[in-house]
Formats: sequence, C-alpha cells, structure tokens
Amino acid sequence: MLDCPRCRQPVDKQAIACPYCNATLKAYGHPGITIHRETGEGYLCESCTYHEDDTCTFPQRPYARECTLYRNKMRPTLAQPTYTPGFGGSVRLWVNRNGLLLGLAGLLLISFLLVLFSR
Ligand code: SF4
Ligand SMILES: [Zn+2]
Repeated sequence: MLDCPRCRQPVDKQAIACPYCNATLKAYGHPGITIHRETGEGYLCESCTYHEDDTCTFPQRPYARECTLYRNKMRPTLAQPTYTPGFGGSVRLWVNRNGLLLGLAGLLLISFLLVLFSR
C-alpha cells in the first residue's frame, strides 16, 4: 500500500488512479511506471538525484512538479551487484583483449623453434 500523493489515502501500489480523489498515479499508457508528484510548494527536482548530479536532460527540469524518473536523493538506492571474474575469468578476459599480441608471440616462438631445430 502507498499513500496517494494528493489526498494521502492509502491506495494499492498497482492502482493506476486514486480511488478517492481520482489522481493519476501511473504514466499514461504505461501502468508500470509511477508518476512522482510534488505535493508541497517546491519542485521535485530540488530533491532529485539526477538534478544533483546534473545528469537530467528533461526540459521540465528544474521546475518539474510531476516526473516519472524522479529519484529521491535522500533515499539510498540498493547497491548494484558488481561482477568480479575469478582467476579463470580474468585469464579469459586478458586473452580476449590481447589476442593479437598472443598471436604475434606464437609466431615468434614458432620462428625461433624452426631456426633452432633446422641446424
Ligand atoms: S528526473 Fe525529473 S525530477 Fe529529476 S531532475 Fe529531472 S525533471 Fe527533475
Ligand atoms: Zn487520492
């Protein structure tokens, strides 16, 4: 359950519109996307992470009072899982990145062996 940003009544988080005041709660045509609204005097951008880090290019910035991409800078987001390859993964990555170098080293080794055993 969430609170309606307009009338503060508890509404189902899947609800597209508030059953009490009829406020639209999801982006038009995209019922999975929540519309965030500023209910006070200010603007959403004032507390938005994307305004603070200057990555937002929405034309309504910095005066958005409704936004689907708003992210509250006061609420920590879940840490993204980081990928750490094991030893085998690191070797594979290195081989993928340095394939040309390895090929040249192989050719040099073959040439060296040919010269060594042709005598
Ligand atoms: S994402 Fe929305 S709320 Fe955030 S800065 Fe951009 S326009 Fe403002
Ligand atoms: Zn409402």
